[in-house]
Amino acid sequence: EVEHAPYRQHAALTMEGVHHTFDSLTAVRDVDLEVRPGEVVCLLGPSGCGKTTLLRIAAGLEVLQQGRVTLNGGEIAVPRGKHVPPEKRNVGLAFQDSALFPHLTVMENVTFGLKGQPQAQRRQRALSLLEQLGMAAYADSYPHMLSGGQQQRVALARALAPSPQLMLLDEPFSSLDARLRDRIRDDTLHVLKKVGAAALLVTHDPEEAMFMADRIALMRDGHVVQVGTPRELYCAPCDPFVVAFFGEVNELQGEVRNGRVMTPVGPVEAGWLPEGSQAQVMIRPEALRITEHFEPAPEHRHSHVVMSKLLGRSSLLHICAHGEDGSEAHLHARVPGVFLPAEGQRVDIHLDLSQVFVFPSALA
Ligand code: ATP
Repeated sequence: EVEHAPYRQHAALTMEGVHHTFDSLTAVRDVDLEVRPGEVVCLLGPSGCGKTTLLRIAAGLEVLQQGRVTLNGGEIAVPRGKHVPPEKRNVGLAFQDSALFPHLTVMENVTFGLKGQPQAQRRQRALSLLEQLGMAAYADSYPHMLSGGQQQRVALARALAPSPQLMLLDEPFSSLDARLRDRIRDDTLHVLKKVGAAALLVTHDPEEAMFMADRIALMRDGHVVQVGTPRELYCAPCDPFVVAFFGEVNELQGEVRNGRVMTPVGPVEAGWLPEGSQAQVMIRPEALRITEHFEPAPEHRHSHVVMSKLLGRSSLLHICAHGEDGSEAHLHARVPGVFLPAEGQRVDIHLDLSQVFVFPSALA
């Protein structure tokens, strides 16, 4: 085991150089990914970026075409060679429409995968999981008697019952309404952490990924753009796609002068970009701190409110920002609570630079 010497434990799952095509379409491009023991990793990305294909390769539902896949240090798939079938991989699968067996009760569904154990032990294991997921009262019900959310909980319990080393979850909460989804996410995370199962979870919802994940792998066009903790991706995004994926963002262009880019809301550091080059400045709406300005009008035109809307927990303001150098930009600001300055109200804008990102301009 020399090659793994620095690690005390093997990764639950490794994928190295995985590449997958469907006819002429490349669905997965040269992906390296690791899920450590007990870790929840979310595959996040827009529709069609290859998340499900990658998960199916890990599950053994797709035959590996290129690369290498290991589970707990053991090779389970090599191209044109070894292919351990899904049922032999000791992985728990919970997909979007995880069909329960309609003619079996909830209890029978959950104990289904626990072959070779005494009946009492199987029931006890199933009951404990059903309890943790708030479904113990339905042990004798049939799937058609349950709501969609309840069925998903049972599917999750069924996948967890054999104590798989790795859970593979594909959009397991997507068919639930918003309120139920929050609760089931909570319960699922709680159970995963309690049983110490590693998990790879597919979602296209950034907030779900940030809530569930220890680490997120953000995908685009078949490849992984950035892997890191939710905080790393949100606060240190490696490119404009990563910034934009986590929500609406204001985009400005400017020239790098004296290591900075001037914007109508103030200077932004850009010292690592070549002097004189064009930069793309991305400003999250929450980076704009707005205060009302009641002093007499100064010489230059002042920033003002174009529109303000209360959205509940926050207000959205459209601002026409005027720089001291005469530059102008239309920006969206998101401010907490009820803050509804009138249309035309003059405002001062303070920039929270931790939510401002600068990249070389794609237009240059
Ligand atoms: P979504 O969030 O919409 O499910 P995804 O990120 O999971 O998308 P995949 O389902 O992995 O993406 O699909 C990646 C690409 O591969 C898509 O362009 C899809 O159309 C294509 N694809 C997936 N499965 C097949 C298949 N069996 N045959 C042909 N093309 C496929």
